[in-house]
Amino acid sequence: MTVRVGVVGTGNIGQDHVRRLTRRITGAQVVAVSDLNSERAQTVAAEVPGVRVHRSGQELIRDDEVDAVVVASWGAVHEEFVLAAIAAGKPVFCEKPLATTTAACQRILDAEAAGGRRLVQVGFMRRYDAGYRAMKDAIDSGEIGSPLIVHCAHRNAAAPAYGFTSDLLITDAAIHEIDISRWLLGQEIAATRVLTPRRTSRAGSGVQDPQVIVLETVTGVMVFDEVFVNASYGYDIRCEVVGESGTVALGNQSEVVVKHDGSRSGRVPGDWQQRFVHAYDAEFQAWVNAVASGGATGPTAWDGYAATAVAASCLVALETGLRTPVQLVDRPVFYTPST
Ligand code: NAP
Repeated sequence: MTVRVGVVGTGNIGQDHVRRLTRRITGAQVVAVSDLNSERAQTVAAEVPGVRVHRSGQELIRDDEVDAVVVASWGAVHEEFVLAAIAAGKPVFCEKPLATTTAACQRILDAEAAGGRRLVQVGFMRRYDAGYRAMKDAIDSGEIGSPLIVHCAHRNAAAPAYGFTSDLLITDAAIHEIDISRWLLGQEIAATRVLTPRRTSRAGSGVQDPQVIVLETVTGVMVFDEVFVNASYGYDIRCEVVGESGTVALGNQSEVVVKHDGSRSGRVPGDWQQRFVHAYDAEFQAWVNAVASGGATGPTAWDGYAATAVAASCLVALETGLRTPVQLVDRPVFYTPST
Protein backbone atom coordinates (compact mmCIF):
# COMPACT_ATOMS: atom_id res chain seq x y z
CA MET A 1 0.00 0.00 0.00
CA THR A 2 1.23 3.51 -0.81
CA VAL A 3 0.36 5.96 1.96
CA ARG A 4 -1.04 9.18 0.44
CA VAL A 5 0.22 12.04 2.61
CA GLY A 6 -0.98 15.62 2.99
CA VAL A 7 1.43 18.18 4.50
CA VAL A 8 0.10 21.22 6.39
CA GLY A 9 2.78 23.94 6.59
CA THR A 10 5.41 24.13 3.86
CA GLY A 11 7.92 26.40 5.62
CA ASN A 12 11.42 25.42 6.61
CA ILE A 13 10.87 21.87 7.83
CA GLY A 14 7.56 21.22 6.01
CA GLN A 15 9.24 21.51 2.61
CA ASP A 16 12.11 19.38 3.87
CA HIS A 17 9.60 16.68 4.80
CA VAL A 18 7.86 16.93 1.40
CA ARG A 19 11.21 16.29 -0.32
CA ARG A 20 12.10 13.53 2.15
CA LEU A 21 8.77 11.72 1.59
CA THR A 22 9.11 12.13 -2.17
CA ARG A 23 12.77 11.24 -2.69
CA ARG A 24 13.98 9.08 0.17
CA ILE A 25 11.08 7.36 1.91
CA THR A 26 9.52 4.27 0.37
CA GLY A 27 5.80 3.52 0.52
CA ALA A 28 4.58 7.13 0.63
CA GLN A 29 3.44 9.74 -1.84
CA VAL A 30 2.77 13.41 -1.08
CA VAL A 31 -0.60 14.18 -2.68
CA ALA A 32 -1.55 17.50 -1.07
CA VAL A 33 -0.06 20.52 0.68
CA SER A 34 -1.39 23.62 2.36
CA ASP A 35 0.18 26.73 3.86
CA LEU A 36 -1.05 30.08 5.10
CA ASN A 37 1.37 31.47 2.52
CA SER A 38 -0.29 30.00 -0.59
CA GLU A 39 2.53 31.13 -2.88
CA ARG A 40 4.97 29.08 -0.79
CA ALA A 41 2.67 26.07 -0.97
CA GLN A 42 2.40 26.45 -4.79
CA THR A 43 6.20 26.59 -5.11
CA VAL A 44 6.68 23.44 -3.04
CA ALA A 45 3.83 21.66 -4.88
CA ALA A 46 5.43 22.48 -8.23
CA GLU A 47 8.38 20.24 -7.30
CA VAL A 48 6.20 17.14 -6.98
CA PRO A 49 3.98 16.05 -9.88
CA GLY A 50 0.27 15.75 -9.09
CA VAL A 51 0.26 17.51 -5.71
CA ARG A 52 -2.91 19.48 -4.93
CA VAL A 53 -2.74 22.75 -3.01
CA HIS A 54 -5.55 23.20 -0.50
CA ARG A 55 -6.74 26.56 0.78
CA SER A 56 -6.58 25.43 4.39
CA GLY A 57 -5.26 22.63 6.55
CA GLN A 58 -8.82 21.67 7.45
CA GLU A 59 -9.73 21.28 3.77
CA LEU A 60 -6.62 19.13 3.24
CA ILE A 61 -7.52 16.87 6.16
CA ARG A 62 -11.06 16.39 4.74
CA ASP A 63 -9.64 15.36 1.33
CA ASP A 64 -10.65 11.70 0.76
CA GLU A 65 -7.43 11.07 -1.11
CA VAL A 66 -5.30 12.02 1.91
CA ASP A 67 -4.69 8.91 4.04
CA ALA A 68 -2.35 10.50 6.60
CA VAL A 69 -1.34 14.02 7.62
CA VAL A 70 1.94 15.76 8.48
CA VAL A 71 1.55 18.92 10.58
CA ALA A 72 4.52 21.25 10.13
CA SER A 73 2.88 24.63 10.60
CA TRP A 74 4.03 26.71 13.54
CA GLY A 75 3.36 25.38 17.03
CA ALA A 76 0.40 27.56 18.01
CA VAL A 77 -1.78 25.99 15.30
CA HIS A 78 -0.75 22.35 15.74
CA GLU A 79 -3.67 21.57 18.05
CA GLU A 80 -6.46 22.39 15.58
CA PHE A 81 -4.93 20.24 12.82
CA VAL A 82 -4.10 17.29 15.08
CA LEU A 83 -7.64 17.33 16.50
CA ALA A 84 -9.12 17.50 12.99
CA ALA A 85 -7.00 14.54 11.86
CA ILE A 86 -8.07 12.52 14.91
CA ALA A 87 -11.73 13.40 14.23
CA ALA A 88 -11.27 12.20 10.64
CA GLY A 89 -9.65 8.96 11.88
CA LYS A 90 -6.41 9.75 10.00
CA PRO A 91 -2.89 9.08 11.33
CA VAL A 92 -1.06 12.34 11.98
CA PHE A 93 2.64 13.09 12.30
CA CYS A 94 2.95 16.36 14.24
CA GLU A 95 6.21 18.28 14.41
CA LYS A 96 7.24 19.27 17.90
CA PRO A 97 5.77 20.79 19.97
CA LEU A 98 2.56 18.74 19.98
CA ALA A 99 0.91 21.98 21.15
CA THR A 100 2.11 25.07 22.94
CA THR A 101 0.12 24.63 26.18
CA THR A 102 -0.50 21.63 28.42
CA ALA A 103 -4.26 22.30 28.21
CA ALA A 104 -4.11 21.99 24.42
CA CYS A 105 -2.04 18.79 24.69
CA GLN A 106 -4.58 17.43 27.18
CA ARG A 107 -7.39 18.00 24.65
CA ILE A 108 -5.39 15.95 22.13
CA LEU A 109 -4.83 13.15 24.66
CA ASP A 110 -8.56 13.08 25.44
CA ALA A 111 -9.57 13.02 21.77
CA GLU A 112 -7.13 10.26 20.83
CA ALA A 113 -8.04 8.10 23.81
CA ALA A 114 -11.77 8.61 23.11
CA GLY A 115 -11.21 7.27 19.58
CA GLY A 116 -9.55 4.20 21.11
CA ARG A 117 -6.79 4.05 18.51
CA ARG A 118 -3.31 5.57 18.43
CA LEU A 119 -3.12 8.05 15.57
CA VAL A 120 -0.56 10.65 16.71
CA GLN A 121 3.24 10.54 16.36
CA VAL A 122 5.24 13.56 17.60
CA GLY A 123 8.38 14.71 15.74
CA PHE A 124 11.03 14.01 18.37
CA MET A 125 13.46 12.72 15.75
CA ARG A 126 16.44 12.33 18.09
CA ARG A 127 14.96 9.01 19.20
CA TYR A 128 15.86 7.76 15.68
CA ASP A 129 19.46 9.03 15.75
CA ALA A 130 21.99 6.17 15.71
CA GLY A 131 24.06 7.75 18.51
CA TYR A 132 21.16 8.26 20.90
CA ARG A 133 19.84 4.75 20.13
CA ALA A 134 23.24 3.26 20.98
CA MET A 135 23.27 5.28 24.20
CA LYS A 136 19.85 3.93 25.13
CA ASP A 137 20.96 0.35 24.42
CA ALA A 138 24.00 0.86 26.69
CA ILE A 139 21.85 2.30 29.50
CA ASP A 140 19.14 -0.37 29.20
CA SER A 141 21.75 -3.17 29.19
CA GLY A 142 22.88 -2.06 32.66
CA GLU A 143 26.46 -1.66 31.39
CA ILE A 144 26.99 1.74 33.06
CA GLY A 145 24.92 1.01 36.14
CA SER A 146 22.06 3.11 37.32
CA PRO A 147 22.08 6.64 35.78
CA LEU A 148 22.85 9.51 38.17
CA ILE A 149 23.62 12.59 36.09
CA VAL A 150 23.13 13.66 32.45
CA HIS A 151 25.22 16.39 30.79
CA CYS A 152 23.77 17.87 27.60
CA ALA A 153 24.62 20.77 25.36
CA HIS A 154 22.48 22.21 22.58
CA ARG A 155 24.39 24.80 20.58
CA ASN A 156 23.24 26.48 17.39
CA ALA A 157 25.53 28.65 15.30
CA ALA A 158 23.05 31.52 15.34
CA ALA A 159 19.45 32.09 16.37
CA PRO A 160 17.04 33.29 13.67
CA ALA A 161 17.65 36.99 13.12
CA TYR A 162 14.19 38.12 14.25
CA GLY A 163 11.84 37.30 17.08
CA PHE A 164 13.93 34.71 18.96
CA THR A 165 13.07 35.11 22.64
CA SER A 166 14.44 33.72 25.92
CA ASP A 167 11.35 31.48 26.10
CA LEU A 168 12.12 29.95 22.70
CA LEU A 169 15.47 28.64 23.99
CA ILE A 170 13.28 26.41 26.15
CA THR A 171 10.21 25.67 24.01
CA ASP A 172 12.00 25.37 20.66
CA ALA A 173 15.51 24.14 21.53
CA ALA A 174 15.65 22.52 24.99
CA ILE A 175 12.41 20.65 24.31
CA HIS A 176 14.57 18.15 22.41
CA GLU A 177 16.73 17.46 25.49
CA ILE A 178 13.58 17.29 27.62
CA ASP A 179 12.22 14.52 25.41
CA ILE A 180 15.49 12.66 24.92
CA SER A 181 16.21 12.68 28.67
CA ARG A 182 12.77 11.21 29.44
CA TRP A 183 13.34 8.58 26.75
CA LEU A 184 16.93 7.66 27.67
CA LEU A 185 16.16 7.43 31.38
CA GLY A 186 12.64 5.99 31.06
CA GLN A 187 11.42 8.43 33.72
CA GLU A 188 9.32 11.54 33.98
CA ILE A 189 10.78 14.91 34.98
CA ALA A 190 9.50 16.08 38.38
CA ALA A 191 11.00 19.58 38.73
CA THR A 192 13.09 22.13 36.86
CA ARG A 193 15.40 25.06 37.46
CA VAL A 194 16.90 27.52 34.98
CA LEU A 195 20.28 29.17 35.58
CA THR A 196 21.14 32.32 33.69
CA PRO A 197 24.87 32.76 32.94
CA ARG A 198 26.35 35.99 31.59
CA ARG A 199 24.69 36.74 28.24
CA THR A 200 26.66 36.43 25.04
CA SER A 201 27.26 39.68 23.18
CA ARG A 202 25.59 37.99 20.19
CA ALA A 203 22.21 37.58 21.98
CA GLY A 204 19.30 39.63 20.69
CA SER A 205 18.10 42.52 22.81
CA GLY A 206 16.92 41.22 26.21
CA VAL A 207 17.38 37.56 25.22
CA GLN A 208 18.87 35.29 27.89
CA ASP A 209 21.35 33.24 25.86
CA PRO A 210 22.89 30.92 27.06
CA GLN A 211 20.78 29.19 29.72
CA VAL A 212 21.53 26.16 31.87
CA ILE A 213 18.39 24.12 32.37
CA VAL A 214 18.34 21.64 35.22
CA LEU A 215 15.83 18.80 35.06
CA GLU A 216 15.26 16.57 38.08
CA THR A 217 13.61 13.20 37.44
CA VAL A 218 11.21 11.39 39.75
CA THR A 219 14.10 9.25 41.09
CA GLY A 220 16.45 12.22 41.52
CA VAL A 221 18.59 11.91 38.37
CA MET A 222 19.78 15.42 37.46
CA VAL A 223 20.02 16.57 33.83
CA PHE A 224 22.17 19.66 33.13
CA ASP A 225 21.38 21.12 29.71
CA GLU A 226 23.39 24.03 28.37
CA VAL A 227 21.32 25.75 25.67
CA PHE A 228 23.30 28.28 23.64
CA VAL A 229 21.73 29.38 20.37
CA ASN A 230 24.36 31.91 19.26
CA ALA A 231 27.44 29.72 19.69
CA SER A 232 28.78 30.95 16.33
CA TYR A 233 31.03 27.97 15.47
CA GLY A 234 28.37 25.48 14.31
CA TYR A 235 25.60 23.14 15.45
CA ASP A 236 26.86 21.02 18.32
CA ILE A 237 24.75 18.51 20.25
CA ARG A 238 26.28 16.70 23.21
CA CYS A 239 24.97 14.17 25.66
CA GLU A 240 26.68 12.07 28.32
CA VAL A 241 24.94 9.89 30.89
CA VAL A 242 26.94 9.17 34.04
CA GLY A 243 25.97 5.92 35.76
CA GLU A 244 27.07 4.22 38.97
CA SER A 245 29.76 2.21 37.18
CA GLY A 246 30.48 3.98 33.88
CA THR A 247 29.40 6.59 31.38
CA VAL A 248 28.03 6.64 27.87
CA ALA A 249 28.17 9.63 25.54
CA LEU A 250 27.44 10.59 21.95
CA GLY A 251 30.60 9.97 19.94
CA ASN A 252 32.47 12.17 17.53
CA GLN A 253 29.94 13.25 14.94
CA SER A 254 32.37 14.31 12.23
CA GLU A 255 32.20 12.03 9.19
CA VAL A 256 35.72 12.91 8.09
CA VAL A 257 39.07 13.78 9.58
CA VAL A 258 41.02 16.46 7.71
CA LYS A 259 44.81 16.52 8.04
CA HIS A 260 46.38 19.64 6.64
CA ASP A 261 49.38 21.81 7.24
CA GLY A 262 50.44 20.03 10.41
CA SER A 263 46.98 19.89 11.98
CA ARG A 264 44.19 17.33 12.27
CA SER A 265 40.55 18.40 12.33
CA GLY A 266 36.98 17.25 11.90
CA ARG A 267 33.82 18.97 10.70
CA VAL A 268 31.11 20.53 12.88
CA PRO A 269 27.62 20.35 11.26
CA GLY A 270 26.26 23.74 10.24
CA ASP A 271 22.70 23.13 11.37
CA TRP A 272 20.12 20.61 12.58
CA GLN A 273 19.22 19.54 9.05
CA GLN A 274 22.79 18.34 8.45
CA ARG A 275 23.25 16.81 11.89
CA PHE A 276 19.99 14.88 12.03
CA VAL A 277 19.24 14.11 8.36
CA HIS A 278 19.45 10.34 8.91
CA ALA A 279 17.32 10.56 12.04
CA TYR A 280 14.56 12.45 10.18
CA ASP A 281 14.67 9.87 7.38
CA ALA A 282 14.48 6.94 9.82
CA GLU A 283 11.69 8.67 11.74
CA PHE A 284 9.57 9.16 8.61
CA GLN A 285 10.23 5.65 7.28
CA ALA A 286 9.09 4.22 10.62
CA TRP A 287 5.96 6.41 10.56
CA VAL A 288 5.05 5.44 6.98
CA ASN A 289 5.64 1.74 7.68
CA ALA A 290 3.43 1.92 10.77
CA VAL A 291 0.66 3.78 8.94
CA ALA A 292 0.79 1.32 6.02
CA SER A 293 0.33 -1.60 8.40
CA GLY A 294 -2.50 0.11 10.30
CA GLY A 295 -0.37 0.52 13.43
CA ALA A 296 1.46 3.31 15.24
CA THR A 297 4.98 3.84 16.51
CA GLY A 298 7.39 6.38 17.99
CA PRO A 299 6.82 9.28 20.40
CA THR A 300 3.17 9.44 21.46
CA ALA A 301 0.81 12.29 22.26
CA TRP A 302 1.64 11.54 25.91
CA ASP A 303 5.32 12.24 25.15
CA GLY A 304 4.26 15.50 23.47
CA TYR A 305 2.13 16.42 26.49
CA ALA A 306 4.88 15.60 29.01
CA ALA A 307 7.51 17.60 27.09
CA THR A 308 5.21 20.63 26.91
CA ALA A 309 4.47 20.32 30.65
CA VAL A 310 8.19 20.25 31.48
CA ALA A 311 8.81 23.23 29.18
CA ALA A 312 5.99 25.11 30.96
CA SER A 313 7.71 24.43 34.28
CA CYS A 314 11.03 25.71 32.86
CA LEU A 315 9.35 28.94 31.71
CA VAL A 316 8.16 29.57 35.27
CA ALA A 317 11.62 28.67 36.61
CA LEU A 318 13.24 31.12 34.18
CA GLU A 319 10.89 33.86 35.32
CA THR A 320 11.17 33.20 39.08
CA GLY A 321 14.65 31.71 39.44
CA LEU A 322 13.08 29.00 41.62
CA ARG A 323 12.98 25.20 41.56
CA THR A 324 9.60 24.56 39.93
CA PRO A 325 7.61 21.32 40.15
CA VAL A 326 6.28 19.89 36.88
CA GLN A 327 2.48 19.56 36.81
CA LEU A 328 1.63 16.24 35.14
CA VAL A 329 -1.66 14.37 35.20
CA ASP A 330 -1.42 10.60 35.73
CA ARG A 331 -0.46 8.82 32.53
CA PRO A 332 -3.67 7.34 31.02
CA VAL A 333 -3.58 3.55 30.63
CA PHE A 334 -4.10 4.14 26.88
CA TYR A 335 -0.50 5.41 26.69
CA THR A 336 1.78 2.52 27.49
CA PRO A 337 5.48 3.48 27.42
CA SER A 338 6.53 4.17 23.82
CA THR A 339 9.45 2.81 21.82
P1 NAP B 1 8.36 28.05 9.41
O1 NAP B 1 9.50 28.05 8.45
O2 NAP B 1 7.85 29.34 9.95
O3 NAP B 1 7.14 27.28 8.68
C1 NAP B 1 5.87 27.19 9.21
C2 NAP B 1 4.89 27.35 8.06
O4 NAP B 1 3.57 27.13 8.54
C3 NAP B 1 4.93 28.76 7.44
O5 NAP B 1 4.96 28.66 6.03
C4 NAP B 1 3.63 29.37 7.95
O6 NAP B 1 3.11 30.36 7.08
C5 NAP B 1 2.75 28.13 7.96
N1 NAP B 1 1.54 28.27 8.75
C6 NAP B 1 1.34 29.01 9.87
N2 NAP B 1 0.06 28.89 10.27
C7 NAP B 1 -0.55 28.07 9.38
C8 NAP B 1 -1.88 27.59 9.23
N3 NAP B 1 -2.85 27.94 10.10
N4 NAP B 1 -2.15 26.75 8.18
C9 NAP B 1 -1.18 26.40 7.32
N5 NAP B 1 0.09 26.85 7.39
C10 NAP B 1 0.39 27.67 8.41
O7 NAP B 1 8.67 27.13 10.66
P2 NAP B 1 9.53 25.79 10.70
O8 NAP B 1 10.92 26.08 11.12
O9 NAP B 1 9.31 25.00 9.45
O10 NAP B 1 8.83 25.06 11.93
C11 NAP B 1 7.55 24.44 11.79
C12 NAP B 1 7.34 23.50 12.98
O11 NAP B 1 8.34 22.49 12.93
C13 NAP B 1 7.47 24.18 14.34
O12 NAP B 1 6.57 23.60 15.22
C14 NAP B 1 8.91 23.86 14.76
O13 NAP B 1 9.09 23.83 16.14
C15 NAP B 1 9.07 22.47 14.15
N6 NAP B 1 10.48 22.16 13.85
C16 NAP B 1 10.96 20.98 14.29
C17 NAP B 1 12.29 20.66 14.10
C18 NAP B 1 12.83 19.36 14.61
O14 NAP B 1 14.03 19.27 14.80
N7 NAP B 1 12.02 18.35 14.81
C19 NAP B 1 13.13 21.54 13.40
C20 NAP B 1 12.58 22.73 12.91
C21 NAP B 1 11.25 23.02 13.14
P3 NAP B 1 3.52 31.92 7.37
O15 NAP B 1 5.01 32.00 7.20
O16 NAP B 1 2.76 32.68 6.34
O17 NAP B 1 3.09 32.20 8.78
